[in-house]
Amino acid sequence: MTEGKVPNGFGAAIDFGAGDQSASTSTATSTTATAPTTARLLILGSGPAGLTAAIYAARAGLAPIVIGGYAPGGQLMLTSEVENFPGFPDGIDGPDLMAKMRAQAERFGSTMVDQDVDRVDLSAQPLRVWSARREFQAEAIIVATGASALWLGLESETRLRGRGVSACATCDGFFFKGQEVVVVGGGDTALEEALFLTRFATKVHLVHRRDSFRASKIMISRVEAHPNIQLHMNREVVEVLGERSTEAVLLRDTTGSLSTPERLAVGGLFVAIGHKPNTALLGGALPVDAAGYLQLESDTTASQIDGVFIAGDVHDHRYRQAVTAAGDGCRAALDAERWLAERDASRS
Ligand SMILES: Cc1cc2nc3c(=O)[nH]c(=O)nc-3n(C[C@H](O)[C@H](O)[C@H](O)COP(=O)(O)OP(=O)(O)OC[C@H]3O[C@@H](n4cnc5c(N)ncnc54)[C@H](O)[C@@H]3O)c2cc1C
Repeated sequence: MTEGKVPNGFGAAIDFGAGDQSASTSTATSTTATAPTTARLLILGSGPAGLTAAIYAARAGLAPIVIGGYAPGGQLMLTSEVENFPGFPDGIDGPDLMAKMRAQAERFGSTMVDQDVDRVDLSAQPLRVWSARREFQAEAIIVATGASALWLGLESETRLRGRGVSACATCDGFFFKGQEVVVVGGGDTALEEALFLTRFATKVHLVHRRDSFRASKIMISRVEAHPNIQLHMNREVVEVLGERSTEAVLLRDTTGSLSTPERLAVGGLFVAIGHKPNTALLGGALPVDAAGYLQLESDTTASQIDGVFIAGDVHDHRYRQAVTAAGDGCRAALDAERWLAERDASRS
């Protein structure tokens, strides 16, 4: 749960973390300035979904260009001690895992461009993408731009992120065995996270700023009935206390009837107020569901647009795990590869 170094992206040497450097992180430099701008396949995003897609596509000889964002590596760059990614029995730092995935993708001929995509034109072939005023073209695109957890916006929350502050109970709950924790939120996800955390924490404080939850009735009755969940309605977290790790939170009464913030001693704060899928770059070119996540066209990774495929958290709000995103990246690369082969066959 200690924070890894978040790389600075554009044109800079990438340091993906202070841990195991065996994945050639010191040589994994951005090729942004000299990168080619045309490829058969462009991959947007360099989290587990994008990099797994790159490994498969590169091994299939497609030499993909990965436009992976100014913060390459995705959400796992914000955490350490990833203990549930298969193949690492002792766990691995998030940044180290991402450095290994990146090195593996580069080894087979993927080109990395550590910039954000600003806009796209998917209305005709070739598909076009603009990033830092340069135009990239390809026959096929995999969109793997992930989702960003929403945070409370407190300075202390940012400082203690990875040091007791988390946005993922499935990922980090295990680290809070025998401690008291706070969950913030009022929807189904928050209530689910609170219930999940009761497996580890001695007590879960569920904090919601309103007087009623937005969750389903069944979830509400489960949390209300749970002996180890204490509800704090009409309360919001206004400060996370602790120097090296989270020690307590300050709760403010949102009705204004209590003038002094209440101190709650806890070892962890789980922020469960939602995620925002990173789709702005698409400018509405692909359909999204009510929560803003991209929608798949069928049981493959194909989108509504021929040649455009979707992978990872940008469409998946159900599982949201590195291994499921990686699995999706694999599927998208195989789908794109087949689509390109069929296109070749139909043209010959
Ligand atoms: C704090 C934390 C801890 C976690 N711990 C675990 C764990 O222990 N185990 C686990 O399995 N999962 C964990 N997760 C969840 C896991 O990180 C995600 O499910 C996974 O990273 C999703 O992968 P992805 O590739 O779909 O998206 P992301 O990892 O979100 O990557 C998206 C990529 O798209 C890029 N991007 C975004 N916008 C643009 C743009 N405009 N142009 C170009 N690129 C763009 C980003 O820079 C990034 O490279 C954790 C998540 C968080 C937040």
